[in-house]
Amino acid sequence: MRMCVGCREMKEKKSLIRVVRSPEGQVSIDPTGKKPGRGAYVCREGECLSRAIRQHQLERQLQAEISEEIRENLRLEMESLQENRHE
Ligand SMILES: [Zn+2]
Repeated sequence: MRMCVGCREMKEKKSLIRVVRSPEGQVSIDPTGKKPGRGAYVCREGECLSRAIRQHQLERQLQAEISEEIRENLRLEMESLQENRHE
């Protein structure tokens, strides 16, 4: 069980998605959960991701600055994951 940094609910790991800050400082979504670096978990929903960003929970958890560009990238990655899920 892991906590979503958006809604702060405990959920099974498989219903969450990992966001990772690589050792190089790059923030991205990690669908495999295997990328090296510091990780945070959010529900597979755009709402939890944007809430985590808005409330600075993601920044706090990853100890990384979430720029507008990163925010947009994360949103796009999350959307493409959701599209894949419906196939
Ligand atoms: Zn959530």
